[in-house]
Amino acid sequence: MPELSTWVGLDDTDSYSGGCTTWTAAQIAAFLRDKLLDFPYLIRLNPEIPWKTRGNGALALHVSTLGPTQEEGIKRILAVASRVEGKTDPGLVLVSEGKAPRWLSDKALRDVVTKRLLEKALSISGETGAVQIVGLRPGLPRGLIGAMAAVAHTWGDYTFELIAYRDDLTKKREEVLSDVLYMDSLTAPVTFLNVDREDGQPLIYPHGPDPVLFGIRGEDPNVLIAAHDIVRNTSRPWVIFKTNQATNEHIVDIEDASRARPYTTVRFVAYVVDKPQVLQGGHVKIFAKQGATEIQVMVYRQTGYLNRISRELLPGDKVLFWGAVRPGKVPLTINLQGFKLLSAVKWEDEKPLCPLCGRHMEKTNFGAYRCTLCGVRAWDPQIKPITRRLRQGKDYLPSASAFKHLMKPWNRRPLPAAYQFSPAYIESQQNPHKILSGENY
Ligand SMILES: [Zn+2]
Repeated sequence: MPELSTWVGLDDTDSYSGGCTTWTAAQIAAFLRDKLLDFPYLIRLNPEIPWKTRGNGALALHVSTLGPTQEEGIKRILAVASRVEGKTDPGLVLVSEGKAPRWLSDKALRDVVTKRLLEKALSISGETGAVQIVGLRPGLPRGLIGAMAAVAHTWGDYTFELIAYRDDLTKKREEVLSDVLYMDSLTAPVTFLNVDREDGQPLIYPHGPDPVLFGIRGEDPNVLIAAHDIVRNTSRPWVIFKTNQATNEHIVDIEDASRARPYTTVRFVAYVVDKPQVLQGGHVKIFAKQGATEIQVMVYRQTGYLNRISRELLPGDKVLFWGAVRPGKVPLTINLQGFKLLSAVKWEDEKPLCPLCGRHMEKTNFGAYRCTLCGVRAWDPQIKPITRRLRQGKDYLPSASAFKHLMKPWNRRPLPAAYQFSPAYIESQQNPHKILSGENY
């Protein structure tokens, strides 16, 4: 008989005041360190949900079955976390092994989970009393969808993030660029998104008032520990999360662009119709078509490199586009997250030269050409080869500083290894006895 196990799922303990659900999860993980069966999971959900909290991240811990003491400890941690935060509505669930429906996770990652769907999921899962909901306010907690979805997550591609926390929120984070650069030079590409190479800004430090000191993302938890030791300020507690960040898991491939739905991120093939238009403010608008379906591709200035390079597209280019569908727009409008040039236009029409005087002819109203000097006519333009800056088959992506959690960097080299969890991947400073005695730890 396999040992019985429990899942702890939680979400929405951060809300607007800039707390951080990962911090609550980190404390629970430290408290249950010896009961953990795998890394704590940090699952990023659909980033296009308008009512999400900042990172739309949910957390899950897989632990061997808990006794009443441990359950009590978890509730205490949750209560303290939300007392600090004030207006949050944290949702925590304790779910028996295998009782969270897989489809809920898929839906929460790529689509919208309605209240009705959540209730359906709960009724299935709760049939045998397998789901215990721990909320701090009456009714179903708002974070319940994320909490259930994190527990139900099915792993495909994955990465790790080591998150180090600070104990004093009033102190400014000490950002040491030279350390980050040195760490990056030794560990990339096994670690990634450490630095924005365009402007030399470190990307491991968040800027909000949350308890995160820094986060280092990568493929190998052991390399993350080494990277952590290089960056200064190493005395704080830290936790390594297994995560779906940097996997592009939020993207849905669709054959037919006309079926793209709001609040989803889609990827499809289309042809560029016009030269990209540069709008006021530096944003770029590209008109594209897939069959009869017209598509507007918006490339915001904030995407940096993607915005600049997208201006190189030409009418006739066959392109794989991916981006978030904007709700309520006709024609279909996406906010571009990346593109790949599948087939590039290589020739360009040019006004033909007059065989008599050698000057370029002018276009007439009838689509033909005529030399204004000699009156010589020609029907067809000349064609000349175009030198393209864009390379076929390459992924063009935003600047590193514009990356969102789920977006996959171009240089990610997933390592095939499976990492066995050990409590050494959690560096805790807290005393479990303090949690149980109710002291403010
Ligand atoms: Zn002429």
